[in-house]
Amino acid sequence: MDSCEKRVLLTLIVPVMNEEESISPFMAAINDKLEGLAAELEILFIDDGSTDSTIQQIEKAATNDERIRYLKLSRNFGKEAAMTAGLDHAQGDAIVPIDVDLQDPPELIHDFLRLWQEGYDTVYGVRATRLDDGRRKRASAGLFYRVFNRLSHTTIPPNAGDYRLMSRRVVDAIKQMPERNRFMKGMFAWPGYSSIGVEYDRPARYAGFTKWNYWKLWNFALDGLTSFSTWPLRIWSYIGGGIALLSLIYMLSIILRTMVFGIEWPGYASIMSAVLFFGAIQLISIGVLGEYIGRLYIETKGRPIYVLEKKN
Ligand code: UDP
Ligand code: MG
Repeated sequence: MDSCEKRVLLTLIVPVMNEEESISPFMAAINDKLEGLAAELEILFIDDGSTDSTIQQIEKAATNDERIRYLKLSRNFGKEAAMTAGLDHAQGDAIVPIDVDLQDPPELIHDFLRLWQEGYDTVYGVRATRLDDGRRKRASAGLFYRVFNRLSHTTIPPNAGDYRLMSRRVVDAIKQMPERNRFMKGMFAWPGYSSIGVEYDRPARYAGFTKWNYWKLWNFALDGLTSFSTWPLRIWSYIGGGIALLSLIYMLSIILRTMVFGIEWPGYASIMSAVLFFGAIQLISIGVLGEYIGRLYIETKGRPIYVLEKKN
């Protein structure tokens, strides 16, 4: 390396919740895989309301390693809030959120850094294989990316997670996004600038277990769609217009048939189906309205996204 080149600072943001067994293998992997990295490291753990000895493990690691800093949240706020706390307190010129369970291979950071130095503002990891996930999970993830990118102005690259490098100006743009509903994949993509993907094989979790299940994933997808698109609201005008047109045609045909064949019209079945069908359609549209109103309610309260208990 050129000796007069200024050393850059790279911050790793590591949200942790009940990960006592993972802290020291994580640090070992960082020390092993990031040896000779062309940047200084700052390792910022965010303890997201752990109830085990995670914070003691972090403190222990921090005593003989001055690159380690940590934030402790006052309770569990969720990974998104923990990452937000990390973004707010990171000092690096480039920032990488990384999972502590070693599912985000640290050696990739060499590539991230190189591409960032070549001028890309975001370098995101793309999961070439998802060894941990079944066929159904992969298919539903694929469907989600297609729907999202159709409906939203922000394009998120398929199979890219939170594991990525972001330049300082990308992070500064994200820090200006005040929303409570933090769909990070979308928020990371929203500032724009140049970006590039790097493929990697995503290994299985090192220890502990994942905090996700299908119900959580479904809600996650809904949060993502509603915070980046108003299409679910607008579509009802079109559905309404379409149904109005069909109803008009149907009405004209009833009038015509009555004029030709007289009034004999057994209508019970058709009336019942119409009433039930339109009742259901209206309830669904009200439900969609409710989704957005609920989110508006949360946003207007303007509560802080996380509460810090301790900073080090
Ligand atoms: N995590 C967190 N708060 C939570 C849930 C998870 O800080 O409420 C952290 C967790 O400790 C881990 C990372 O977020 O470092 C990813 O969690 P997990 O491995 O459960 O998610 P997955 O890899 O299955 O997406
Ligand atoms: Mg994981």
